[in-house]
Amino acid sequence: MPDAPDPSPRSPGIEAPAVAPSAPRKLCTDCGLSRTAAPGRCGTACQFIRPDYAASETAVHGRARDPERGDEAFFGPYRRMVQARLEPARAGAQWTGIATRLAEKLLEEGAVDAVLAVGSDPDDRWRPRPVIVTDPAAMAECRGMKMGYAPLLALLEPAAAAGHRRLAVVGIPCQVYALRAIEAELGLERLYVIGTPCSDNTTTENFHHFLGLLDPAPERITYLEFRADFHVEVRYDDGRKREIPFLQLPISKLPADFFPLTCRTCVDYTNALADLTVGYMAGRGEQWLVVRNERGEELVERLGDELRVKEPTSAGKRAGAVKGFLVNLERAAGGLPTRSMPNWLRPLVGWLMPKVGPKGLEFARARVEMKALEAVVHLRREAPRKLRHMVPPHVWRLTAAYGVTPTSSETRER
Ligand SMILES: Cc1cc2nc3c(=O)[nH]c(=O)nc-3n(C[C@H](O)[C@H](O)[C@H](O)COP(=O)(O)OP(=O)(O)OC[C@H]3O[C@@H](n4cnc5c(N)ncnc54)[C@H](O)[C@@H]3O)c2cc1C
Ligand code: SF4
Ligand code: SF4
Repeated sequence: MPDAPDPSPRSPGIEAPAVAPSAPRKLCTDCGLSRTAAPGRCGTACQFIRPDYAASETAVHGRARDPERGDEAFFGPYRRMVQARLEPARAGAQWTGIATRLAEKLLEEGAVDAVLAVGSDPDDRWRPRPVIVTDPAAMAECRGMKMGYAPLLALLEPAAAAGHRRLAVVGIPCQVYALRAIEAELGLERLYVIGTPCSDNTTTENFHHFLGLLDPAPERITYLEFRADFHVEVRYDDGRKREIPFLQLPISKLPADFFPLTCRTCVDYTNALADLTVGYMAGRGEQWLVVRNERGEELVERLGDELRVKEPTSAGKRAGAVKGFLVNLERAAGGLPTRSMPNWLRPLVGWLMPKVGPKGLEFARARVEMKALEAVVHLRREAPRKLRHMVPPHVWRLTAAYGVTPTSSETRER
């Protein structure tokens, strides 16, 4: 018999209830909905089936994104954006720990009964494990990025059974889309949604393979992040740190299906349905908050002086980088080898990219456009019938700037 998931709490106030397995679909990141008592809801609640972002944005924020308003065409509806950091930064956090601190603060102040977030498997720090947190101090166990899928929404039922009516959920975009789709039927008294952006997730097993290519002793790696300055930062359990330019990563040694089709084609990089998105892309080495609605404002206010904020800035031009990305994407999708750079040139280009590449908001716009192009190119190649219902009009507007427009069978818009 397979081992049952370990439901025992590792500290008071944090529990990982066992969740039932679910039948895998072709495009599914196991957000947890299919493990609930009503798995049929996937049909209408899944971002990979027939999402309606305009309707969901209107339901959550009171209006859909307005392409004429600031940067909403790229980042979804928002009231304001800030560059931010938590002071002091929290040990073990992915950046400065704003996401977990917000949830901790809600518990400390009694604004919620419980938080649904993602901790680590007791035997593998990189393997995500959804948890129900009721003790503020236990939020520390959720700090840091894990790689893999966590059936977070499967915890909605155990949380309800425990009598938790006021909840906060810390989630990635594919989890948050489904959560918003079923929010009205949950009958909650209050729900705070703290979202992070998400891109290039993969299975925990694949991620271990990648760590093995980076270092002969991958078990010593405790932290990894793809930074906005085009470097991957790797930290070790003995305090060592390495900064590897993107161009020197062993990407060509990864199998073609290293990133699942879901994560190559999801269309909501910036978590447009969260109350507050906590990321780093436009943060220029700090964090980046997208405050989307009144509840998001409330979350930011609760941090008071702990949160140091600045106006976000923008520099450089993204068009060349995005066009180059599209050329490589189409060559790779067409089965051609991507143009490789001689090894001797890589360190030089790796050194130059952070100096001349887009920065701040322009970097974030570039990444959102790249992700939109990636979604279209990969769906065209691997699941063309999905395009019509899965790719929303706002994504086609972004790709149109690079000459990628829908055929009549690829869109519902007339
Ligand atoms: C796979 C992945 C890819 C990401 N890519 C980007 C990106 O391209 N650009 C960007 O700006 N941000 C990205 N993020 C978010 C980023 O890693 C940070 O989580 C975010 O900037 C908040 O930092 P923090 O210090 O405030 O978070 P912390 O306080 O350290 O909290 C991190 C939170 O993330 C949640 N979490 C961790 N791993 C997972 C997981 N596998 N699934 C679901 N939730 C999880 C935990 O619940 C925790 O509360 C990504 C996150 C993940 C999980
Ligand atoms: S809603 Fe969640 S569980 Fe259901 S198919 Fe989509 S990702 Fe999978
Ligand atoms: S990249 Fe997209 S589909 Fe994959 S885990 Fe992140 S939000 Fe979900």
